[in-house]
Amino acid sequence: MTSRPVHRAWTLRCRRAVERCARLFAVPAENPELIRSQSAALSTQIPLLYFILVTNSVALALTHLHSAPAWMTVWTPGALCGFCIVRLVWWRRIRHIEVDTATHLRRLRLTLRLVPVLGVLFTAWGFNLYRYGDAYAQAHVAFYMAITVIGCIFCLMHLRGAALMLAAIVILPFAVFFSLTGNLVFMLMAANLLLVWVAMIFVLLVHYRDFARLVESTVTLRLRQAETQRLSDENFRLANLDSLTGLPNRRAFLAHVDSMAAHASGHHAARARGTRSIVIGLIDLDDFKLVNDAYGHSTGDRVLAEVGRRLLDISTNPVFFARLGGDEFGMLLRENLSTDELMARGRALCRLLQQPYELGELTLRLTASVGFAASPDGPLERPELLFEQADHALYYAKQNARGEPVIFSHAHESERRRMGLIEQALAHADLVRELSVAFQPIVELPSHRILGFEALARWTHERLGQVPPAEFIACAERSNRILQVSEVLLKKALAEARRWPDDTWVSFNLSARDIGSPEATQRIADIVLASGVPPHRIEMEITETALVSDFDVASESLRLLKELGVRIALDDFGTGFSSLTYVQRLPLDKIKIDRSFVSDIVHNATGQSVVKSIVDLCRNLDLDCVVEGAEDEEQVGILHELGCRKMQGYLFGRPMAGDAACALLSRETTIQAA
Ligand code: C2E
Ligand code: CA
Ligand code: CA
Repeated sequence: MTSRPVHRAWTLRCRRAVERCARLFAVPAENPELIRSQSAALSTQIPLLYFILVTNSVALALTHLHSAPAWMTVWTPGALCGFCIVRLVWWRRIRHIEVDTATHLRRLRLTLRLVPVLGVLFTAWGFNLYRYGDAYAQAHVAFYMAITVIGCIFCLMHLRGAALMLAAIVILPFAVFFSLTGNLVFMLMAANLLLVWVAMIFVLLVHYRDFARLVESTVTLRLRQAETQRLSDENFRLANLDSLTGLPNRRAFLAHVDSMAAHASGHHAARARGTRSIVIGLIDLDDFKLVNDAYGHSTGDRVLAEVGRRLLDISTNPVFFARLGGDEFGMLLRENLSTDELMARGRALCRLLQQPYELGELTLRLTASVGFAASPDGPLERPELLFEQADHALYYAKQNARGEPVIFSHAHESERRRMGLIEQALAHADLVRELSVAFQPIVELPSHRILGFEALARWTHERLGQVPPAEFIACAERSNRILQVSEVLLKKALAEARRWPDDTWVSFNLSARDIGSPEATQRIADIVLASGVPPHRIEMEITETALVSDFDVASESLRLLKELGVRIALDDFGTGFSSLTYVQRLPLDKIKIDRSFVSDIVHNATGQSVVKSIVDLCRNLDLDCVVEGAEDEEQVGILHELGCRKMQGYLFGRPMAGDAACALLSRETTIQAA
């Protein structure tokens, strides 16, 4: 009963041993790197093997030349050595030829087959010669076989199977043959060689194992290096890529600017001819924030991705686009363009970005403004200056030429300096003393009765003189002084409004920062409450751009003001995004139609239809509507026909000092009383 499992275990063990044994003699077909390394090693060692074999055999044949027959000393060794020489030459010739792994494998297998054949033939030849010579010649045979086989085994170190086979084929018969001679010297030589044989096999196995491991670790190292390189390439790519748009990111852009600046010195000649070599363009989508607010961030992201796709489509070698963050994109140009050519490029870019954005069922229309700055002369030592100039040009485009390109020029340079001066002067200004408020009447038609006044900021600086509010308000907004500026102006405006009749309201312009945080809004509310002017007589004007930075906070602020009883008007309507959803989401009481529609309304049918549709919109949403910028009777006639009843403009009164406003009101009251 027990004998069967024992038998099976034995069979299994035997089979494993045979397999292990077979593996010792096999060529590692599954390991291409090892095959190539073995083949490379053999290609230098096998010619050496043949050399040893040939020279030793020739020497043995010579010592037997007179004692043995010619077929044993000339023809047989001649044929064997001839074959060996052919193989030697062949191995030397193929040494440096690149071949695939399969060819290497074929070579190893052929060697594996040839070694035992040659081993048997040379050994048989050696034993045969033993018969012919005297004692010295016989000793030479023994010496020949021992030394040749050791030499050959060393040459075959890298092909374990061949070396082991050769050792077995030569040394074992050698030991048997010389033990049987009965000669003590030969018997001891046989024993000696057997011992060397055992040691050699041990060295061979260890050497081959170490060789295979070395190859393996080289492969692993190379793989690891390749993987490290791949990962670092990938990291580099990701670190420089904007994932949303697929464009290079800000980091990549700045690196590109720096490298261009470094190479810019080679372009002096180009600059001398009045052309440009490095141009930085900053592209900003107009009112993009409103897209996010009205349709959600995922829609905003889809628009940005589409912008990225369009820019990628046109980025060719001298033009490099990147997303710098938010809705701002950068463009780098290294081309010698004239101002006109650059403007043409900019316009083409704006047109490209103005194409409708088809997002499923939604179609959005957006414009983009572009600011360019070019390096005109000298090496580009301060790329950041070029960046600032492009930024200024973009700012200028945003203020004056939305949807168009602007190239930074000398005029901008002096404007930039003036802004710097204004910023400095504002920082040190005595706001309470230097700021004042002008009031512009808003009237009702057809009676021309004054409904209220818009309070407009005025700043007189001792050196700069009268600074227009559009300039210093923008400066104050950038330099964080706006909250103080608004406080001073609001207090002054409300102090004047207290002197007016109960039904005359005051309209005050709030800046983005005033409604940009709950604390700022609370300070506005506190001033309103402390003023003594009933909140229902106060109106706050905000522009769409004031809502851009954070719509939720801004609309919450407006709600807080509205709870006090203050009314809210949306200023400059029609110039910005003017989305219906947007208007509906705000607690509005009034819309002020921008004066840009009025200036050419007499000749512009489009302007007329825009005004008409805004008037209709206000009627539908039950909103009050005021149209700004009425300068002559003709305009007023058309506006009246279009349904406008409340107007503001130079025709009805220019912005005036508080006393003048009071005087105007009392004169009106007197006329009405009369
Ligand atoms: P806005 O709020 O649109 O103010 C109306 C501007 O149009 C005023 O310019 C006014 O003088 C001008 N204007 C009125 N009627 C006519 C007209 O018939 N024709 C023409 N061509 N212009 C007319 P102003 O006073 O220079 O103010 C410019 C801008 O500065 C204002 O535009 C407003 O955005 C800002 N601003 C003025 N005062 C303040 C303020 O107290 N706070 C804030 N945050 N912004 C203010
Ligand atoms: Ca206004
Ligand atoms: Ca306005």
